[in-house]
Amino acid sequence: MTAKNNRIFQSKEDFLTQYRDACETFAGKGFEELNDQERYYVLASLVASKAKNVRAAARPEGKEVYYFSLEFLIGPLLDNYLLNFGVRDIVEEGCNDLGTPLDRLLSQEVDPGLGNGGLGRLAACFMDSMAALGINGNGNGMRYRYGLFKQVIKEGRQVEKMDNWLEHGFPWETRKNESAVIVQFGGNVVRHEENGRYWFTQEGGDLVKAVPYDVPIVGYGGKTVNNLRLWSAEPAEENFDLDAFNAGDYAKAMKFRSDVEAISQILYPNDSGEHGRILRLKQEYLFVSAGLQTILRTYEKKFGPKWEDLGKHVAIHTNDTHPAMCGPELMRILVDDKGVDFDLAFKIAQETISYTNHTVMPEALEKWPINTFRALLPRTYMFIEEIDRRYRESFPHDRDNWQDLLAQTAILWDGQVRMANLSVIFSHSVNGVSALHTGILEAETLHGFYELTPEKFNNKTNGISHRRFLGNANPSYARLISNTIGDGWLSDANELKKLEPYADDASFLEEFEKAKLENKRRLAKYIADTTGVELDTSMVFDVQVKRFHAYKRQLLNVFKILDLYNRIISDSSFQPRPTAFVFSGKAAQSYTFAKEVIRLINSVAEVVNSDARVNDKIRVAFVPNFAVSSAQLIYPAAEISEQISWAGSEASGTSNMKLMMNGAITLGTYDGANVEICKLVGEDNIKIFGLRTEEVENLRASGKYWAWDAYNADRPRLGRIVDELTDGTLAHLSGNFESIRDELMVNNDHDLVLKDFYSYVSAWEELTASYADRKAWNRSAVLNTARSGYFSSDRTIREYANDIWHIGD
Ligand SMILES: *Cc1c(COP(=O)(O)O)cnc(C)c1O
Repeated sequence: MTAKNNRIFQSKEDFLTQYRDACETFAGKGFEELNDQERYYVLASLVASKAKNVRAAARPEGKEVYYFSLEFLIGPLLDNYLLNFGVRDIVEEGCNDLGTPLDRLLSQEVDPGLGNGGLGRLAACFMDSMAALGINGNGNGMRYRYGLFKQVIKEGRQVEKMDNWLEHGFPWETRKNESAVIVQFGGNVVRHEENGRYWFTQEGGDLVKAVPYDVPIVGYGGKTVNNLRLWSAEPAEENFDLDAFNAGDYAKAMKFRSDVEAISQILYPNDSGEHGRILRLKQEYLFVSAGLQTILRTYEKKFGPKWEDLGKHVAIHTNDTHPAMCGPELMRILVDDKGVDFDLAFKIAQETISYTNHTVMPEALEKWPINTFRALLPRTYMFIEEIDRRYRESFPHDRDNWQDLLAQTAILWDGQVRMANLSVIFSHSVNGVSALHTGILEAETLHGFYELTPEKFNNKTNGISHRRFLGNANPSYARLISNTIGDGWLSDANELKKLEPYADDASFLEEFEKAKLENKRRLAKYIADTTGVELDTSMVFDVQVKRFHAYKRQLLNVFKILDLYNRIISDSSFQPRPTAFVFSGKAAQSYTFAKEVIRLINSVAEVVNSDARVNDKIRVAFVPNFAVSSAQLIYPAAEISEQISWAGSEASGTSNMKLMMNGAITLGTYDGANVEICKLVGEDNIKIFGLRTEEVENLRASGKYWAWDAYNADRPRLGRIVDELTDGTLAHLSGNFESIRDELMVNNDHDLVLKDFYSYVSAWEELTASYADRKAWNRSAVLNTARSGYFSSDRTIREYANDIWHIGD
């Protein structure tokens, strides 16, 4: 071996030798005797062991960041880690020599569903960027035995299946028995007093053992390997019901075990009315308490009991309110276990903790009944109550509206613990996730806090891992880009700017179009294989892929498709640009409306795809089981990115960024990060439609919006589509759609589908009409990529590091 570098394999030959050895080590057989799943498993295990070696050899000095998130939607890791270690080409060639293409091995990898969607994926992108930037980033989350359900479609309906993601084992994780900690639930608080000094202990209740599973996070360049720590709940041995067991009452003995294990059994779906489930509160406390105990143990080993300096060496970031208990729990440990004074403990908590809000709608903010909370976490609750009491006691009375401000900002109110208020009060920094969203937080959702402590508030527009979502997901385009401007963009996404001059280079645009076509073919094949729907790759690929939610308005997209359908049939002169509409996404199990919209899309797909009068102009496909792996196939093939939430509802969105980066043109409302996309690409390279945030607010405030007016104003067109929901047109697959019609006409169209309909359809028609000029379209698409560097999560993390975590101060 010659030059020393960070590569884990020095050459193809070196890789092959190590891989063959690893087959014996990890599987006890030669490569030839293994099946594809085993071959994948060995390769992943080999890369994982390399990652662990790098981490053991080089832990950089500097502040430790702990990112607390109930969700990490990490996606498949192998391809990404090969890219980050700089050995993807070597391994690809080596696998070809072995007669087993790398792609075949990659397709064996599980896609762990440890998150719902955007929020969990953001946490995963942040882990990638922290490692790429050499920040000591630690993830702290939950190891759910079953991830988010697997979605299958039966008669157009979503059916949920268990996600047994650990079936074949997970080669990336390492169980750390020696790092397990005890977490206590329930019991009673007992006051002790001696010589005028008093203290409290929590007695009885259930003791749960939190066992960590560590997943290495490989940074780009392979220099930094960070750790994602996921907690699993097990009975603490001393509390396992041995008496019952010894007495032969195995059922009783096992019940305790399964009650405890239930804590890390499943990931809760969001948007589902599942709020208020006690198991969820247990999950939140388990990963908070276990994470904090670990942080303090690590800190004490390094710095001794200098707790007043904790915030200098440690940053704890809370992703939404799920880890809101970090504040009071940190105080509890410092005061009860470490003997720190109450006021100092609060100061330490505030200096150390920061909070990201992801919610615009006040009714969606997390709250727990005080009684539930106190019964489960009696001692931690006392800290909340005391902080709330002092907050009220010292609340400044110098403003006319002080009572209103207090009512808005107190933690305890109306019998409930308000988790957002808890998070803000215990944090030194509060951020929103796009410029528009932060503005709404300041002006509305958290306005009281903004009036009192404006200095806490800041914006951190979300970002995405451009390495995964362009580098890994779109190899044909990534290769073209690297051949054109070099591969520096992988470490510095701003270098994508260098593509701008090529937006006017005819041969580059042709190559871009070829890459796009390759991606469209790849997706069309996947869709044909999984759904049987054939998409013509000469059609425009128009995609809306994301969780199903009323505010995201997949229904508006369906209305557009039905409008096209009706017009093509009734007007032979109407010639829309042939388009394939691709949908994908899950709805929470109990979210009836969202599930009906999925059924509607599949019903429309069946009608449209089988009708020879229209199916050469429009096709509709619903790709089942949206997940990171399928997302990586869909984004690169997209030409139109549908981002059509009503303005003021989507906090940021991140698929809008991934799609832009892959050269899709956004058709969207002026919402979330679409606003910033618009500013970056310019109005010529995006299509914005619909009401603006203020217009939505004014319309709602006026009380003058009537869905029936919209219906009556255009019976033949818009009214007809509403009628088609219930007149049998779409009923063939599994019935009509009364509840969707009711949502529009009885509930007065809360999400303004009918209101934005015309503006939306016109925008779509204008946008697709411009597709005919291939050069102009491709120019616009390339400019979207060239100007997308801002949306790398590297940029976002740099901002967190500078402004919130104060790394390098
Ligand atoms: C990016 C991503 C999301 C977020 O999509 P939005 O359109 O921003 O809601 C959800 N799920 C997966 C798998 C993703 O990769």
